[in-house]
Amino acid sequence: MDENKKIAVFPGSFDPITNGHMDILKRALALFDKVIVAVLNNENKTPQFSAEVRVQMIKESTQGLRVEVESFSGLLTNYVKEKNAVVIRSLRATSDFENEFQMSVMNNHLSPQMETVFLMTRKEYLFLSSSAVKEVAKFGGNVKDMVPEPVLKRLV
Ligand code: ADP
Repeated sequence: MDENKKIAVFPGSFDPITNGHMDILKRALALFDKVIVAVLNNENKTPQFSAEVRVQMIKESTQGLRVEVESFSGLLTNYVKEKNAVVIRSLRATSDFENEFQMSVMNNHLSPQMETVFLMTRKEYLFLSSSAVKEVAKFGGNVKDMVPEPVLKRLV
C-alpha cells in the first residue's frame, strides 16, 4: 500500500539538474521507497529553462529509477503535506547551511510534522552548481562531466 511507503520529496530549482543533484537523488533512493523530484516554478526567478523543460530533462535523466517528477508552485509545506512525505535537501559548502537552516526552521514552524533530511554532498560535487554549469556552457566550456546527457544535449 502506498500509505506504508516511505516517500521523499526532493525540491529545488534544477535549472538544470546536475550530476550533484543526481548523486543526492540516488542516495535518497537507497533510503526511501520513492522520490518525487519537485521542480519549483517560482515567478520571482527567471530561469534559463522553463519548468516544463526542467521537468522533461529530469524525467529523461531518471528513467528506470523509482522517481516521479512534477513541478510545483506555492508553499513547499502544503505540497509535502499532500504527498505525506519527508523533504530531502543537500548541503555543500558552509554557505548553504544558513539558508537551509532558516528554511527548515520556517517549514517546521508552518508544518511541525514535516521533517527535512539533509544529505552532505560528496567531494566531487562540492563546487558544482546549476549556475556554474550555465556559466561554463555559455562561454563554450566543456560541461560533459557535470550534467546528465539529456541536459548536455540541450546546453550545447
Ligand atoms: P534551490 O534554488 O532550491 O537551492 P537547486 O536546484 O540549486 O535549488 O538545489 C536543490 C537542492 O540540491 C539543494 O538542496 C542543493 O543544496 C542541492 N544541490 C545542488 N547542487 C548540488 C551538488 N553539487 N551536490 C549536492 N547537492 C546539490
